[in-house]
Amino acid sequence: MSLIVQKFGGTSVGTVEKIKAVAEKIAGFRARGHDVVVAVSAMSGETNRLIGLAHEIQKAPNPRELDVLVSTGEQVTIALLCMALENLGCQARSYTGAQVSILTDSSHTKARIREIDDRKIRQDLEAGRVVVVAGFQGVDEHNNITTLGRGGSDTTGVALAAALNADECQIYTDVEGVYTTDPRVVPNAKRLDQITFEEMLEMASLGSKVLQIRAVEFAGKYKVPLRVLSTFKEGPGTLITLDEENSTMEQPVVSGIAFNRDEAKVSVLGVPETPGVAAQILSAVGDANIEIDVIVQNISSDRLTNDLTFTVHRNELEKAKDIVEEIAGNLNARAVQTDDKITKVSVVGVGMRSHAGVASRMFKTLADENINIQMISTSEIKISVIIDERYLELAVRALHTAFELDNSEEA
Ligand code: ADP
Ligand code: ASP
Ligand code: MG
Repeated sequence: MSLIVQKFGGTSVGTVEKIKAVAEKIAGFRARGHDVVVAVSAMSGETNRLIGLAHEIQKAPNPRELDVLVSTGEQVTIALLCMALENLGCQARSYTGAQVSILTDSSHTKARIREIDDRKIRQDLEAGRVVVVAGFQGVDEHNNITTLGRGGSDTTGVALAAALNADECQIYTDVEGVYTTDPRVVPNAKRLDQITFEEMLEMASLGSKVLQIRAVEFAGKYKVPLRVLSTFKEGPGTLITLDEENSTMEQPVVSGIAFNRDEAKVSVLGVPETPGVAAQILSAVGDANIEIDVIVQNISSDRLTNDLTFTVHRNELEKAKDIVEEIAGNLNARAVQTDDKITKVSVVGVGMRSHAGVASRMFKTLADENINIQMISTSEIKISVIIDERYLELAVRALHTAFELDNSEEA
């Protein structure tokens, strides 16, 4: 008998019928003698709906109240799932994040989990109950409700598995595992049997939302065996593995292609070419808690001025622009330009470490499709480019083919 933590995403609990089907699945695991703890998301679309309501009242909703609001989505599904389990004769008890408690820091809308009190959960398991915990939410030391960032129920699942020392954490979703790229964009993407934590971390941070990046970080840190599977179709899914040696033995140089539609670009043109200017601009943006992604600086031919360009999340473009315009004014910069019609496409693979030529193949593939590369950023195991968002799907498909990732069986 083992202890399994199962996380069900929004589409898996999107209707009452689906909630009943999830209950059947959980009851099946109980019937086979496993202890089961479940983390569940809000019904699909619900979190967006609630955020939309907040924006009808406040342009920049109060973060504390926003957390109180959006956390209600998961409170609905935990209760409905427990009712469905009860109907099947399976004893179950629901808990909100605060009731568990899942203690977080106080960064509303992007809180980090500090500690999970496992006592209630263990008592319920001993009493033979399934424990259903609301994903995506916690409570800070002052008893304020917090949330863990979009997609945060994945992190709740993994954190519960770490706290309970579970035998496996299963992330159930609407696709059959982790694919070479988003199967909704490239229908002949291949499901991976396994992927290393390192690659999964890159994929998640570069925009593959199948797993929230913090969930992957948590799983890597606490060595939680993590698997992504389909709620609707039986199958092995994808194992996220720490065993890099074995998993890369027969793997291609590039394991997957990720993309992020949420980027926006800020350019400060004609800033004086003197030490400390980039630091001044970028630290002001960083101090406002805006995450900066790709950065490029070009020196003009006269060597007196340069252009500094960086990308941020689209939601934060306006805020970043205001900050940069003020500094640009003080620096006598020529202009500040922004562009929110860009996207980032990345190729990822631990195999890149030992293979040259990935960058040239990537750039040539994009050139052959007439796609202009605006910015480039690299690390040991990934290459990212910023391109016009109009070419996103074309770029992802062309790269998927160029790096021989297409699934020949289903093509
Ligand atoms: P859930 O509601 O279950 O949390 P999400 O929508 O957050 O589901 O994540 C699953 C989605 O992630 C899939 O439907 C798919 O479109 C997308 N996705 C993006 N990249 C990948 C990838 N490499 N492999 C699998 N799915 C991916
Ligand atoms: N309901 C939250 C969201 O939509 C958390 C999650 O689904 O993981 O982001
Ligand atoms: Mg998700």
